[in-house]
Amino acid sequence: MANERQGVWGRVRAGLRDWSVPRQLRGEDALGAAAESADSRRTRPRLEEADRVGASICPYCAVGCGQLIYARGDEIIHVEGDPRSPINRGTLCPKGAATFGWLSNPNRLTTVKYRAPGADRWEERPLDWAMERIAQLVKRTRDETFVRQLPDGTTVNHTLAIAELGGATLDNEENYLLKKLLSGGLGMVFIENQARI
Ligand code: SF4
Repeated sequence: MANERQGVWGRVRAGLRDWSVPRQLRGEDALGAAAESADSRRTRPRLEEADRVGASICPYCAVGCGQLIYARGDEIIHVEGDPRSPINRGTLCPKGAATFGWLSNPNRLTTVKYRAPGADRWEERPLDWAMERIAQLVKRTRDETFVRQLPDGTTVNHTLAIAELGGATLDNEENYLLKKLLSGGLGMVFIENQARI
């Protein structure tokens, strides 16, 4: 019991010794040494364990904020805004700031999920297979439904059987190219973008 009391008093004395107010009264610099404590001296920079950092672009929207991706070995340990980017100057909105959780979430889908017509379950397929299938279906549908002229003789050169909905990450230039390909190249009419930034 006596030992326990000594231990408690020892911790209280150590705490008082380390408290900044008596240290300032003893003459320590309030903005220097006295501003530190045993706890703050033990605190380490959160990125101290990173052994490399790469520059990237936030994948969420067409603003295209710059990001710094910190890694330890093959593991990403932190994502933050890149202060060198003239777009965001080191800041990220809540979506961009959540990129790390999105990357490291164990539920993140990393393979293509395919559900065949009429099937009641998903199958995993390689990305190349999915891209090839999309291309084949677009080409086949376009060829089967392409209309050169309406019954009244009006030239239309279009298909009404395919539509495209772009994602928010697409910027003006990418949307311009998409419009060229899908409208001018394939004759699609229904082309839309989720966010027009
Ligand atoms: S989602 Fe936010 S952080 Fe990401 S690019 Fe858009 S504005 Fe920037």
